[in-house]
Amino acid sequence: MRICGKKSSGNVTLPKLPAPQRRSAIVPFPVPHDDGSNSELPINSKEESDEDLIREAIERNDFLNKIISGKRLDDVINAMYNKEISAKDTVIKQGEKGSHMYISAKGTYQILIKNKVVNEFSDVRVFGELALLYNAKRLATIKALTPGRVWVLDRNVYQQITVGYNIKKQDEIMQFLMNNERLKVVGKEALQEVSGLLKSEFFKAGTQIVRQGDKGNKFYIISAGTVTITKDGEGVVGVYKKGDCFGELALLKEDCRQATVTADAPGVECLTLTRKQFVDHFGDIKEWEYINVRPQDSFKDGVTEHEDIDLRDLKIIKTLGVGGFGRVELVQHKKKSDLVFALKYLKKIDIVMQHQQEHVYNEKNIQMACKSPFIVRLYRTYKDNKYIYLLMESCLGGDLWSLLQKQKLRRFDEKEARFIAACVLESFDYLHSRGIIYRDLKPENLLIAANGYIKLTDFGFAKKISSRGKTFTFAGTPEYVAPEIVLNRGHDRSVDYWAFGAFIFELLTGRTPFRTDDSSHMKTYNKILSGIDNVPFPSYVNLKARHIVEKLCRPVPSERLGMQKPGIKSIKDHKWFLGFDWLKFAKCEMPSPFKPKLKSPIDTQYFDPFKKDNDIPPDELSGWDTQF
Ligand code: ATP
Ligand code: MG
Repeated sequence: MRICGKKSSGNVTLPKLPAPQRRSAIVPFPVPHDDGSNSELPINSKEESDEDLIREAIERNDFLNKIISGKRLDDVINAMYNKEISAKDTVIKQGEKGSHMYISAKGTYQILIKNKVVNEFSDVRVFGELALLYNAKRLATIKALTPGRVWVLDRNVYQQITVGYNIKKQDEIMQFLMNNERLKVVGKEALQEVSGLLKSEFFKAGTQIVRQGDKGNKFYIISAGTVTITKDGEGVVGVYKKGDCFGELALLKEDCRQATVTADAPGVECLTLTRKQFVDHFGDIKEWEYINVRPQDSFKDGVTEHEDIDLRDLKIIKTLGVGGFGRVELVQHKKKSDLVFALKYLKKIDIVMQHQQEHVYNEKNIQMACKSPFIVRLYRTYKDNKYIYLLMESCLGGDLWSLLQKQKLRRFDEKEARFIAACVLESFDYLHSRGIIYRDLKPENLLIAANGYIKLTDFGFAKKISSRGKTFTFAGTPEYVAPEIVLNRGHDRSVDYWAFGAFIFELLTGRTPFRTDDSSHMKTYNKILSGIDNVPFPSYVNLKARHIVEKLCRPVPSERLGMQKPGIKSIKDHKWFLGFDWLKFAKCEMPSPFKPKLKSPIDTQYFDPFKKDNDIPPDELSGWDTQF
């Protein structure tokens, strides 16, 4: 593989940032339009001057101009409604969870943090925009000093606009592909993959898009406008319109174009796919019928271990960790002392209040079905009036986040980083081949087992994606989310490869490429949308490492390393892993640099001390948890 050295590594030092803390995942409400249902968009008609005011405010905002444009901007402008504000009204309140974005049109407003005025404004500006992505806590209070007026956009409406738009676009492309006699023989699943590879291109009126007799290496679908087809000696033989395809044979073989295709006025927009991209993804095939999507392995149902252990058989030894919904305790069997587990407590009331029932079911169903040396085993679950309990294998080497902080330079050397990355890659290989995406890769969710190998845990965001489709709910931890998640475009397993790129960067440098000092995460999202090419790499990161990170963090999901025909194998075969003995490694026969020195099966020296949890949650008896 060619190593691109377009930018020199130079003597870049990373800017100083506050001391690192464990990072929480975003806990979003499920998106109401994830199924593609699309009810009527609200239209609130307004004066042209108001439309201009909203348009300009959105275009001026660094974040919004990246996520809202074109037809979606028109829909947003139509959907925003007017709200009169009285003097002293609080428009948004610090600490409350927001679900609206605002644009100030009139009036003077104060910005307060912890009840202290920190600023004042009376211009036209956007505020509260993070609420469009998920129900984030407001970081400041905005209070009116004078009577005023604001334009309001509801998150539900914004998501209806973006998700609906993307689903509609995807459906339309699928329809184009399915309508083509040659293409439809390969079936819906394969065409769904083809659709993910298409790029939009515009051709000015009069452009000869393909010329008779030329060698063809590109396929086209018309998404807007018309083209005229001509043949030497015959003149005009047809006109193609929206939805028509041409050049599909070029995907199968290098062929001579049979006709000339010219763009009509005022120009044509096409979705295109090159032969190279097609071959990278599907291999070199001769007939359409032989396009194959990778088959998914199913879970093999083995014997369930420790099924007979009752909660009452266990005693608590020590707290291992505290997470978003509860805590994890080290527990030991009262009679058989060699049986030691990690027991995760989840507060049911919190799960219900934050609408996370589906995520907890995913966590149970997916993690329990996983049997891999690179994934923490979940043996069984329990429930009572207050908690859901997950009985897991204990990993007493601590978590990778703590290990990273303990490194002398707060980063791993290359050999160590490669070992850790290989463990993660094996766990992803296991999950992806079963149609599961993980969505929350970070050192906090990786544990060190007694043999020194790293295991993935915390399956709260893992999801089985049916028929190679996409999912829309915002999921993950801000520094690791892929741009299509921020853009609400729908995502698939390629988000795990993006996160994997950010993760390798973090192992080698001590921080992700997209980390900022902004607790609202807006700057982080901006950085993610600006892309990896704008991130400086410190000089101690070598070119091979830099290359793998850049190949994983591609903005276009289908271009990420791992998304081509060989799948994850192309990541394992990357030069950064050159000489790595994957066979020995998969059998856990390679010595680990991280083998913990445990004195007993209940030795907790690798865990920080945690205070006792005195918060006893109230009963939660709604009955959603029957299957735990
Ligand atoms: P969050 O939602 O904040 O990510 P969580 O509630 O999902 O947290 P986990 O990430 O599963 O909880 O676990 C929290 C911490 O508990 C881990 O970072 C780790 O330190 C410890 N822990 C979890 N599971 C185990 C285990 N099987 N063995 C040892 N320690 C564990
Ligand atoms: Mg966690």
